[in-house]
Amino acid sequence: MIHTPGPWKTAPCAGGGLLLVRPNSGQISLQIFPAADATLIASAPDLLAALHRTIDGEPCQREATGQDADCDEYAEYDTWNWCWVCAARAAIARAEGA
Ligand SMILES: [Zn+2]
Repeated sequence: MIHTPGPWKTAPCAGGGLLLVRPNSGQISLQIFPAADATLIASAPDLLAALHRTIDGEPCQREATGQDADCDEYAEYDTWNWCWVCAARAAIARAEGA
C-alpha cells in the first residue's frame, strides 16, 4: 500500500475542525476532521519518514542486550522489557498496511 506523498496540510473549516488537504496527482483531496485529528493525520508522512530514518540499521534492543529476542511477547507498556526498535517496526508495518 502506498500513501499519497506529503506534505499534507490542514486548513481551517468554517463549520469547525480542520480540512485535511492531500495533493493527489494534480487533484486535491479534502476531508473534515476534528482539529487535533487533522493535525496528527497531516503529520503522518513526516512521522513515518522520521521513524524509518530513526530505526534504519538499529538492531532489536533485546537481541542487542543478549535477551531472548521475542519482542511480540511484551506489551508496549511493559517499560522494563519494551523494545523501541520492534515497537517502531510494528508501527511502520501498521502505517504501511503490512
Ligand atoms: Zn525488539
